[in-house]
Amino acid sequence: MLVETRGNNKLRSSKCSFFEAILNPQASFNGLWSLETIPKIDIKDIQNLSYNDLLKFVFKTIDVDSSLIDKALNSYKNFDNSDMPLNYNKISSSLFIQNLFTGPTRAFKDMAMQPFCSLLCDLSLIENKKYLILTATSGDTGPSTLEAIKNKPNIYGICMYPNNGTSDVQRRQMTTIDAKNIRVIAIDGNFDDAQNTLKTLLSSNEFRNFTTKRGFFISATNSVNFGRIAFQIIYHIHSYLYLLNNGCIKHNETINIIVPSGNFGNALGAFYAKLMGVPINKIIIATNANDVLCEFINKGVYDISSRHLIKTNSPAMDILKSSNIERVLFHLFGDIRTKELMESLEINKKYILNTEELLTIQQYFSAYSFSDNDVLNIIKDYASKNIIIDPHTANGILAYEKNKDVYKNHSTYIKSIVCSTAEWSKFATTISKALGQNLNDKDSIEFICKNYNLELHQNIAKLFNKNETNNIILKKEQIQDYIYSFLDSIKD
Ligand SMILES: *Cc1c(COP(=O)(O)O)cnc(C)c1O
Repeated sequence: MLVETRGNNKLRSSKCSFFEAILNPQASFNGLWSLETIPKIDIKDIQNLSYNDLLKFVFKTIDVDSSLIDKALNSYKNFDNSDMPLNYNKISSSLFIQNLFTGPTRAFKDMAMQPFCSLLCDLSLIENKKYLILTATSGDTGPSTLEAIKNKPNIYGICMYPNNGTSDVQRRQMTTIDAKNIRVIAIDGNFDDAQNTLKTLLSSNEFRNFTTKRGFFISATNSVNFGRIAFQIIYHIHSYLYLLNNGCIKHNETINIIVPSGNFGNALGAFYAKLMGVPINKIIIATNANDVLCEFINKGVYDISSRHLIKTNSPAMDILKSSNIERVLFHLFGDIRTKELMESLEINKKYILNTEELLTIQQYFSAYSFSDNDVLNIIKDYASKNIIIDPHTANGILAYEKNKDVYKNHSTYIKSIVCSTAEWSKFATTISKALGQNLNDKDSIEFICKNYNLELHQNIAKLFNKNETNNIILKKEQIQDYIYSFLDSIKD
């Protein structure tokens, strides 16, 4: 069962099933759903399982044993290798890269979004309810969500992005989708405007009434939804098995998992894996100039009172409020303390852990942050070894180097897995900049393919030949009416 991170308000049930939490992600006092108890997993039981069998095994241990999961796993068939939705590169005897971007949009979000949205659709069909998914995106969440829900019955999607605020590739991944159940809106403003418009709609009674009257339930596919998180536990367990089965580590030898982090969903998956007993030494959080998570893990202070969002060259990590930290607080310190800390964040825009709590957090996590320049330098450095990494992954590699420096007296360095969260093709302009070129997306891609002998994935290549038909530019004030007329146009 799942329980609420801020305790129960006595107006609803204090526990719910995995499927209920997917459909109604909001818990009491604006909290989140999380596991009531965390099962222990014995490595011997999972060592020889395929990826999908590992997933089903872990889901079974959290009481999710359903043919719907088998069906959801079919979505991994559109990944590069239909038997395994990820792969690995060995960089050195102690550094491995886990490539999590082999799905349709070439970013790690597909790992969870693909099976999750398939599940959401099946649940909506069983319940015979229509769901409206609203997203505001600065780049990667939008494409991944839309790709996962396009043409799915009972699911409707509206996605808002800041006009001129994404890369060409990211925009085209949304605007070239031609599906009756999807509308893409370029908002005349920045990402904050998009996100605020979304929040205003979600909290508006009038909007709720309108959607309810027309038979739509509103749901969310962001990583506050536990359904997405669950799928993100599996690949962290898999990375341990990969190292073990390839003779890179001995039984019970611990590893580090390094995660380029934003909303902390990916890192949270690794945290659950560690709680389940996978021998993980530290989960190392890599952040960019928006280093709020880094400050939190090193000092126990989560303070956004005087911070402003900084635009960096790893935009999917540009975030101030990392929602999923709440689930870490819940598991380590309980619901009463979590509620207290989260209320402090809402009211004072900050909270502070006591010394004992900070030490507990540091048993699980380390964190480092890096500048845009650090990122450009490491991309160039790796390119000279013929390895092309995206700027988010670059932060992860930098964290590996930094951590190795800090612990340089260890005779053998702990084996580390860096999660690679995006394919280079999504952030080609930044990569070509690191290589001394000043080019647009398309020319950067050509430049990189030619000089590094890489082939562009067809899903990215074809974006430049399609028309951007699913695109309308609107002012904030026009969005509500636009959504109303979209919903009115839908015939059952
Ligand atoms: C979403 C995203 C991240 C951040 O992941 P979180 O789970 O939000 O911490 C990092 N890199 C890329 C490329 C992403 O799309």
